[in-house]
Amino acid sequence: MNKLSIGVDLGGTNLRIAAVDEQGTLVEKVTLGTKVSLGRDHVIDDMCDAIQRVSEKYKDAAPLLGIGIGVPGIIDMQTGLLRESPNLPGWADYPVRAEIERRLKTIVVLENDANVAALGEKWLGAAKDYPDMAMLTLGTGVGGGLVMGGAIWQGANGMAGEFGHTTVEPDGHPCGCGNRGCLEQYASATAVVRMAREAIASNSASALARAAHSDAEFSAKSIYNLAIQGDADARRIFHYVGRCLGIVLSTLVNSLNLPIYVIGGGVSSAWESFSPAIFEELRRRSLVYAATAPADASAVLQGASAVVKAGPGPKTIITRALLGSDAGLYGAARLPMIANR
Ligand SMILES: [Zn+2]
Repeated sequence: MNKLSIGVDLGGTNLRIAAVDEQGTLVEKVTLGTKVSLGRDHVIDDMCDAIQRVSEKYKDAAPLLGIGIGVPGIIDMQTGLLRESPNLPGWADYPVRAEIERRLKTIVVLENDANVAALGEKWLGAAKDYPDMAMLTLGTGVGGGLVMGGAIWQGANGMAGEFGHTTVEPDGHPCGCGNRGCLEQYASATAVVRMAREAIASNSASALARAAHSDAEFSAKSIYNLAIQGDADARRIFHYVGRCLGIVLSTLVNSLNLPIYVIGGGVSSAWESFSPAIFEELRRRSLVYAATAPADASAVLQGASAVVKAGPGPKTIITRALLGSDAGLYGAARLPMIANR
């Protein structure tokens, strides 16, 4: 009998729950709104109710291995406390893991949401054929995760993989983390919109300015739509996104020499408009990349693995994520399967 585990993606907007078996088959998926404004206890009640409904339904068919939860923020892996979470106000220093274990009487594993997305892409997505991988998630912020030998590389304090807060501009835009010029300030959805507004401030007659004026929800997606229509300002912004990603990736490639680096998150749907700059930058800045790049790096997408195998020796693959927003759910469900506590 296939054992099941339950993955939870606890975001600032949505609370999603999935039952997944050991083979990676999605058995059931539930999406609820995260009523953050009603407070922490309310969200935990909703979450535990939904988990209980799902686990009750399958309890006679498949034993439950446990529950994995991906949470935005910094988690103390030893204690299961949420140290800091800008999207979940009032959760800091609350014993989330202990409380949910008490209520549901099963193993609960908490992890940072970006690490969990990386684990999902490693298990079932773009990196499933590789032992080690790194992932960058381009969303509201920029998350990072490192998976080594099939498990999340947590570092001494569980804080490894914060690639979004590595510096790309020494005196650049201030970041919420206290640094200046973090990758997050140039490659997140928030950053794309900010850079567009900066461009509008210097040219109020542009197509960007017209879009910002007419589009009630002026988002990274609206700017991407302009870029694919050929608008020069929008294209410049995504080119810069790619440059900054390329700078960070060249550092990762030089320091880690992993076989694959995966780019996910909402902004990654603009892959066509920013990825050429990534490859340009990598070739310019990373000797390891120059020595290990596939013959046609940009062709390395789903189904193009033949290109990767061209030439001697393992190649360095930079590619898009495959699981979309489900990466975090699959990764969270994977946590109890590989937990050894
Ligand atoms: Zn930062």
